[in-house]
Amino acid sequence: MHRRIVAHGTQGWFASLAGMARVPVRDDLRALEGYHSPQVEVRVRLNTNESPESPPRAWSDAFTAEVARIEWHRYPDRAATALRTAIGGLHGVGPENVFAANGSNEVLQTLLLTYAGAGRRVATFEPTYQLHAHIARLTGATVVEGERRDDFTLDPAEAERLLRAHEPHVTFVCSPNNPTGVVEPEATVRKVIDLAPGLVVVDEAYAQFSDWSALDLLDEDRPMAVVRTFSKTWSMAAARLGYVVAPTWVVAELEKVILPYHLDTAKQIAGRLAVGFVDDMNARVRHVVSERERIANALAAMPVQQWRSGANFILFRPTDRPGRDVWQGLLDRSVLIRDCSGWPRLAGCLRVTVGTAAENDEFIAALQEVLGS
Ligand code: PMP
Repeated sequence: MHRRIVAHGTQGWFASLAGMARVPVRDDLRALEGYHSPQVEVRVRLNTNESPESPPRAWSDAFTAEVARIEWHRYPDRAATALRTAIGGLHGVGPENVFAANGSNEVLQTLLLTYAGAGRRVATFEPTYQLHAHIARLTGATVVEGERRDDFTLDPAEAERLLRAHEPHVTFVCSPNNPTGVVEPEATVRKVIDLAPGLVVVDEAYAQFSDWSALDLLDEDRPMAVVRTFSKTWSMAAARLGYVVAPTWVVAELEKVILPYHLDTAKQIAGRLAVGFVDDMNARVRHVVSERERIANALAAMPVQQWRSGANFILFRPTDRPGRDVWQGLLDRSVLIRDCSGWPRLAGCLRVTVGTAAENDEFIAALQEVLGS
């Protein structure tokens, strides 16, 4: 049933809208498209950089037992102190240095609501994780885009040019970068932090798969924040939990911006218990890394260009066939990977997530068949 909503105003802009079935969105949102990542039913799903395994059985047992004791009529612990203390313990900091939210996407959104917004500028180096720019625009900020080198590393000279020209309030570094998998050298990240006039957000959604972390650079007097997620290494994409480690003055501001009680009790339990299984997590990471190297070696014998990855996925570009056709050929064999071939600066590129050994075997065999190699 459609009920007509009557507008009571009779003046100017409001009067001109009276009686309209649909009212316009904010001017700056009209041209924006949503963020899409298709979910298709397939046998081998290697398109969203999830962990191929579920969390340890002992974790699910402990979780189920604690969830049975939740007092559902009570709001959750608003400050999520036990969860933040547990996460802080992983990194040698206190809860006052940790802010957690519903996936690192909500962490990014909260950072941008706090430090970006209308009249402010956010710097990204493209190609990178699309939601950095997308959420920045949703907050009303202007995005200024820097370019990467052909090998997809950050060029410190280009970073300097961008930062000096636009003086952004927030600068994103993503290492390992999604969708390229490329890890930034520590010296480059240090340089960006030294040059940036505002907050530097280092998105480390995949850092455990690489060989260094910007966490070591954190300091109370340095305007930087390192964002992590439970969705990849921790095998907990379904839980929607991410966090940022940052100076206390950043965390305090984020707490003002986030909605009250944003982290439900079950999620706080899930995350706190997961931290107790850090050794299992590290074992999984080692396994994914060794599988990644096996896929990289297989790709090296095929007609594709690939970029050295420090993440749980690999970006590659078929050299003799259009990327889109190769992606379709894999899908016809029930293997789904990410089609980046139409994305700016990624013509012809595809991205495969590292799966179980059996899934990776299927991917390699299907790709060999599609490429006729
Ligand atoms: N940052 C990067 C670089 C990502 O690739 C992703 C997931 N694709 C996220 C953040 C968001 O992850 P989540 O919201 O699941 O924590």
